[in-house]
Amino acid sequence: MSINTKKYQEITTELNGKATLVAVSKTKPAEEIQALYDLGHRDFGENYVQELADKYEQLPKDIRWHFIGHLQSNKVKYIAPFVHLIHGVDGLSLLKEINKQALKNNRIIDCLLQVHIAREETKFGLNSDELQALLSSSLSELKNIHICGLMGMASFSNNLDLISAEFQYLKSLFDKYAAWPTANCQLQTLSMGMSADYKIALEEGSNMVRIGSLLFGDRN
Ligand SMILES: *Cc1c(COP(=O)(O)O)cnc(C)c1O
Repeated sequence: MSINTKKYQEITTELNGKATLVAVSKTKPAEEIQALYDLGHRDFGENYVQELADKYEQLPKDIRWHFIGHLQSNKVKYIAPFVHLIHGVDGLSLLKEINKQALKNNRIIDCLLQVHIAREETKFGLNSDELQALLSSSLSELKNIHICGLMGMASFSNNLDLISAEFQYLKSLFDKYAAWPTANCQLQTLSMGMSADYKIALEEGSNMVRIGSLLFGDRN
């Protein structure tokens, strides 16, 4: 297996600086990440804490590592020293732990709140009431986190209208809270779209897409 350079060029041209491409490298070896890095790419996404920590050790230190999986509080400490952006934050207790570990590392860690937009029960994330409640909680006390946007995953479906509607819904929440009056919460990043649905996500206002299999081939 090797990276699909042609696809990479095609996608970066398509994004044209309007959206950040996070290359999702979970399960893929360090050499393939290095190959994309050598083409100039710097943003990579991983789902598993141990795998991310190992790859961080092995690979160039100017990579911007995005944690896009479901993060357990007891594992925050392993990625807090270096993680660039945590996409899947779905509760206050996790935010507090990220804040605590960020403080220990003398950093401010950027986070996205994950919103549940899909029909499937299994996907993680906040519903709109929980999002409102979380944003209304005493976030300003958490001085070492910065909430800089929202993240969501659409249903795994062939129904393009359904996927569009789910992304539109996330965009509407993003717009609704864009001017939230808390210093460490400014929604600027809207992380939505994967290999199968990133074109729809871009149409619906995404400015960060997370793409794995189109670049690295299918995962086992
Ligand atoms: C694996 C994963 C992706 C990338 O999926 P592809 O279909 O391979 O592009 C994007 N986002 C999240 C949260 C993932 O877990």
